[in-house]
Amino acid sequence: MRLQNFTSQSVQSQIQLQAFFNQSADLFCIIEPDGTFGQVNSAWQTLLNWTPEALRSRPWIEWVHPLDVDASLEVLGNRDISSNFRYFNNRYRHQDGTYRWLSWSWCYGEDGWGYAVGRDITAQKQTEAILRQTQERYELVAEASNDGLWDWNLNTDRIYYSPRWKKTLGFEDDQISDRATEWFYRIHPDDRGRATVAFQDYIQGLTPTFELEHRLLHNDGTYRWILSRGACLSTADGQPWRMIGSNQDITECKQANSTLRLTQERLQYLLSHSPAVLYSCKVLGNYSMTFMSENAAAIIGYHASEFLADDGLWTSRIHPNDAPRIFANLPKLFESGHHVHEYRFQHKNGQYRWMHDELKLIRDEAGEPLEIVGFGIDITEQKLSEIILQQQTKALQDTHQRLRFHVENSPLAVVEWDREFRVQSWSKQAEKIFGWKAHEVMGKQSTDWRFIEDEDIELVKCNMSRLLDGSASSIVYQNRNVTKNGSVVYCQWYESILLDEFGNLVSILSLVQDITEQKETEAALVNNAELLRVLNEELVQSNRDLEQFAYVASHDLQEPLRTINSYTQLLARKYQGSLDAKADKYIKYIVEGTTRMQQLINDLLEFSRVGRNGKPLQPTACDGVISQVLDHLKIAIAQNNAVVTYESLPTVMGDRTQLIQLFQNLIGNGIKFRGEKPPQVHISATHQGNEWVFTVRDNGIGIESEYFDRIFTIFQRLCSRYEYSGNGIGLAICKKIVERHGGHIWVDSELGVGTSFHFTIPCV
Ligand code: ADP
Repeated sequence: MRLQNFTSQSVQSQIQLQAFFNQSADLFCIIEPDGTFGQVNSAWQTLLNWTPEALRSRPWIEWVHPLDVDASLEVLGNRDISSNFRYFNNRYRHQDGTYRWLSWSWCYGEDGWGYAVGRDITAQKQTEAILRQTQERYELVAEASNDGLWDWNLNTDRIYYSPRWKKTLGFEDDQISDRATEWFYRIHPDDRGRATVAFQDYIQGLTPTFELEHRLLHNDGTYRWILSRGACLSTADGQPWRMIGSNQDITECKQANSTLRLTQERLQYLLSHSPAVLYSCKVLGNYSMTFMSENAAAIIGYHASEFLADDGLWTSRIHPNDAPRIFANLPKLFESGHHVHEYRFQHKNGQYRWMHDELKLIRDEAGEPLEIVGFGIDITEQKLSEIILQQQTKALQDTHQRLRFHVENSPLAVVEWDREFRVQSWSKQAEKIFGWKAHEVMGKQSTDWRFIEDEDIELVKCNMSRLLDGSASSIVYQNRNVTKNGSVVYCQWYESILLDEFGNLVSILSLVQDITEQKETEAALVNNAELLRVLNEELVQSNRDLEQFAYVASHDLQEPLRTINSYTQLLARKYQGSLDAKADKYIKYIVEGTTRMQQLINDLLEFSRVGRNGKPLQPTACDGVISQVLDHLKIAIAQNNAVVTYESLPTVMGDRTQLIQLFQNLIGNGIKFRGEKPPQVHISATHQGNEWVFTVRDNGIGIESEYFDRIFTIFQRLCSRYEYSGNGIGLAICKKIVERHGGHIWVDSELGVGTSFHFTIPCV
C-alpha cells in the first residue's frame, strides 16, 4: 500500500514536472553527452519554431550563431560538475534562419547529461543595442561638439560632470567631485547673480530654455567664458527633479567677437573719420561708384548715397582742364594695377578742391578686371601751401639776391663769424676797409692776425661774450682796427646774432662802418667849438665895449653939441637980419644940423641903454602892458581915428618897462605908417611849443619883402622924415628888447595891404 502510495505519488510529481517543463515560456532541454538533444519542451516550438524531431536530428551547438560558437563551447567545454551552473548568452537560430538572443543557465549531471534553460533576451539585447548606440551617438556628438555634459539631480544636489566638462576647466576626471558647489563656486563673482536669476527664471517657467553665458574659473586661475544650456525633467506632478545640459567653452568665440567688434569699430571710425574718402567703382563706363565712405559728405560735400545713385557724378565734377588728362591716363591702371592722379573736383558748394587719388585694380581669379578700389585725399591746403611756398621761395631768392647786391655794394662792410669767431664771410667792402682779401682771412679767428688795436681787445672780448651768453642780442660799439698796411681805422661795429628756429646760434653778423673821417671831423668840431666859444666871449666883450663906447661917446658928445647949438641959436637971435641972406641961411642949417645931431645922439643913448639898464625879468601880464601903451598913445589914436584891439594876452617873464617900449613902438608904427583908411591895429598871442608868438597886425602901407631884414637895423628907414617922422631907431630897439627876453622878431607884409610884426617870448 505504502509502495502503491509511493508509486502513485511519484507518477503524480512526474506529471507535474512534465507539465511545468512543457508549459514554461523558457527553453528547457536535456542534452545528451554527445551534445544532441535528449528532451526539449514545447517552448522550442513556440519560440524557435523547431519541432522536437528536427532538434534531435542535430547537436545543440549546430544552431548556435557561428560567431558565438567558440565562446559557448568554452563555457560548456569543461564538464566538471563541481563548477555546477554556467551562465552565458548566445544567438540561436530560428527555424526561419534568423537568430534570437538566448540567455543560458546550464549544468551538467553526474551522468554527463546537460540540463539547460534558455531565456529569450532578444528584446532586451535590442534595447541594449539601441541604448548603446544612443550612448555612443551621444558621446560622439558630445566629443565632436567639444561640449561638457552635466546631469544634475535636484533632489540630491549631485551633478554628473562629464570628463569633457572637467577638461574644459583644466581638471582630470578624478579632480572634481559630483557636488553642485564645484560649479557654483567657480562662477565669476560678477556673473553669480545673473546665473542665479537665469536658473530660477527657467525653473519657474519664465524662460522656455535655460541658457546662460558666464565665466568659470579654470584650473590655471584664469576665467573661461562658458555657454550653459540645459533642460529640466519633472515628476508627474510637475516637480523638477533633474536637469541635464551641456557646457560649451566660448572663450575664444567671445574673444573673437570682441576682436571683431573692435575691428568693426576701428573700421567704422577710420571710414568715417579718415581724411581720405574710400571708394570702389566699376571698371567700365563712367566708373560709377559701388561703395563710398560716409566721410565723403564732409570732404567733398556729396553724400555717399548721391554717388551711388548718380553714375556720372564723379566724372562730371572733375575740372574741365583736368578731365582730359585724368581720362587719358586712367588706362595705365589696367596695365600696372596701380595708379595715382591729382585733379580738381567740384565740391557741392561749387568750389573746386584739389584731390589726390590712389587707385588699385582688383582682378577676379581668371585675371579679368573686377573692380577699382581707391582713396582720395583733399590736398587743397597742401597745394595752396605749395604755391605759397613757391612764391616764398621765389621771394626769398629775390631777397637773397638783393641782399647779396646790397652786401656787395653797401658802404658798410659785412662780416660773419662762427661761435669761435672764425670768419665765415668777408664782403668786398670789408676788403676795401681793412685791406685783407676774403681768402686771406676766411676761417681765421680775429686774434690770428693783428686786426684789433691792442688797447681795444678787452672791449671787443667783453662785447662778444655778452652776445654769446645771451645777455645781449645786438651790440653797437666803436673800436680801432688795424688794416693790412698797418694803418689804424676807426670802425663802428653793429653786431647781432643769427639764430636758427630752435634758438641755436648760426653766426654772428657784423656790419662795419669806417668812421675814421667822422672821428676826424668830430675832433675838428671839438676844436671849432672851442674857437667859437672864445670868439663869442670876445664878441660879448666887444659888444659891451661898443655899448660903453656908444654911451660915453653920445654922453660926452652932448656937451660940446649943446654948446654949439646954444651959441648958434644966440648968434641967430642977435644977428638975424643984420648979416646978409646967405649968412642967415647958413646959421639956420647949423641950428637944424645940431638939433638933429642931438636927436640922433639921444636915440643912440636910448639904444645903448636897452642892454645896460635893463631890469631883472619877472612875471608880467601883457594885458596890463597894452593898457599902459594905449594910454600913452591916446592922442595919436584919437588924431588918426585909429582902432586898436587885442585878444586875451598871456603873462610872460619880462622887463615891464621894455615890454611897454616894445609894444608902443610896434603899435605906434602901425598907426603912423597908415594908408588911406583909418588905422586898425590888432594884437594877439598864440602858444607854440614852449614859447608865445605875439603878432601886431595893421592895415597900413605895408613893406616890400626885400626890406624885411633891413628895417631892424639902427637908423634904417624906408621913407623920408618929411613924409613920416622918425629916426629909424624904433625897430632896432624892439629887436634888442626881444632878444634880451630870449626870443626873436620878424615881419611879414604886403604892400598896400598891411604889416604883421611877430616876436616870440619863452613861456613862463
Ligand atoms: P621909424 O619909425 O623911426 O622910422 P623904425 O625903426 O620904427 O623907425 O622903422 C624903420 C622903418 O621901417 C620905418 O621908417 C618904416 O619905413 C618901416 N616901418 C616900420 N613899421 C612899419 C609899419 N607898421 N608899416 C610900414 N612900414 C613900417
